[in-house]
Amino acid sequence: MVIRFYNTYTKKKELFKPINKNEVTLYTCGPTVYKPIHLGNARTFLIEDLLRRHLEFSGFKVKQVMNITDVGHLTRDDIEAGEDKIQAEARRKKVTPKQIAEVNEKDFYAQMKQLNVLKAYKYPRATDHIKEMQDWIKKLLKNKLAYEVNGSVYFDISRFKNYGKLSGNTIANLKAGKSGRNLRSEDKKHFYDFALWVNDSEHLMNWKSPWCAKGYPGWHLECTVMATKYLGKQFDIHMGGEDNIFPHHEAEIAQAEGVTGKRWVNYWIHPRHLMVDKKKMSKRDGNFYTPEDIYSRGFTPRQLRFFLISTHYRTKLNFTFEALEASNKSLQKLITFIDDLQNASGRSAKDRKNLDIDGALSALRVKFIVSMNGDLNISGALGALFTFVTRINKHMRSGYISPADAKKILIQLKKFDKVLGVLFWKGTDKLSLEIKQLIKQREDARKKDDWATSDKIRDELRGMGIELQDVGAKTKVVVKFNV
Ligand SMILES: [Zn+2]
Repeated sequence: MVIRFYNTYTKKKELFKPINKNEVTLYTCGPTVYKPIHLGNARTFLIEDLLRRHLEFSGFKVKQVMNITDVGHLTRDDIEAGEDKIQAEARRKKVTPKQIAEVNEKDFYAQMKQLNVLKAYKYPRATDHIKEMQDWIKKLLKNKLAYEVNGSVYFDISRFKNYGKLSGNTIANLKAGKSGRNLRSEDKKHFYDFALWVNDSEHLMNWKSPWCAKGYPGWHLECTVMATKYLGKQFDIHMGGEDNIFPHHEAEIAQAEGVTGKRWVNYWIHPRHLMVDKKKMSKRDGNFYTPEDIYSRGFTPRQLRFFLISTHYRTKLNFTFEALEASNKSLQKLITFIDDLQNASGRSAKDRKNLDIDGALSALRVKFIVSMNGDLNISGALGALFTFVTRINKHMRSGYISPADAKKILIQLKKFDKVLGVLFWKGTDKLSLEIKQLIKQREDARKKDDWATSDKIRDELRGMGIELQDVGAKTKVVVKFNV
């Protein structure tokens, strides 16, 4: 089997060869749990899921670790300035940072489940690994790759010779571009050094350290430490959105290799940005969406998943509602095809000379697999699938697909769905506008003590895979979901 991925580190498509023959180790940068995830995050997590699923479909076991950032990620992470995102949100909402992190971490898992994203092997939290991070800093200080100033510790990038290899932001290039204005620069040897530990007695989440009484870890350090702890000193694939390439991933490499002295990650894979109406998503421009915003307009998680995975990950995907509608039509074609196959009652394809089901299926299998093996060429894989569907539909309409033929096709589609995760969908597909209206009607009925109507709607929803739990006057929706 020949799988190739584009490696940001070497800027080439490379043959994929895991360190261990049968198990792939995969680290994916997780959410900063200060707000619900947005559409761009969802796209990145779905591409990571697609890659993982394809590796599993190809016979590998995949050990995936995804961190939960619950401290240290600053509002201006490009220049390491501003306030901790979780603390800022806590202040705004007048609750504790822990409450903010807990609510959003829970919401993150629910969002992933709704989008049929496979569970990672582990979701380590930054705040649970403070000791390991401090130990890591001690090693960097010992190796003279870090230095302490006024109770804070910084990484000295001039001491790490491979700095810039991933992003192209070498020290020379950074100096030429002067892109590193930094509010804390007076403390640092160079403006582009980054924080490993920040002395800050005002920070609401703080820990004692050998360098200061109250401080917190730098965001980049979390990923280095947790990835290494759970996946080892060398592992196969590291993923994250392209905005993480610099400074986040560049810093992660410097910290890791600065301690281990070995190449840390073999393949760096980065999905491109998601655009909305051809622009970067922003609240100010009114083109900022979370998955929930999309569902509240009547679209389903299944439709969103299909839309977000069906453009190649190294293409900037432009989200518009028109594009989503168009994608829904394609998805519906697949859903209808499966329904029709499940009810197929025609004569055998063998009766028709120009139709060889086995041959057509094996050609489809080859095209699908070769496409996905080639740097996850999803367009090629789906293209082959749609051509096949059109061809079989024609024969089905003429009554030449028997239940036995249909079964063969369905078995193959189920295998492909291990990769796609959209064809045989259970539960969440029904969370449409119609469902939301039913839930609302039931809430109204409960307010009027109309228990008969309320129970009737509850049963109706249950039949659709939606379980309701009443918590006081509020209704919690539990979507039954099986992967
Ligand atoms: Zn990370």
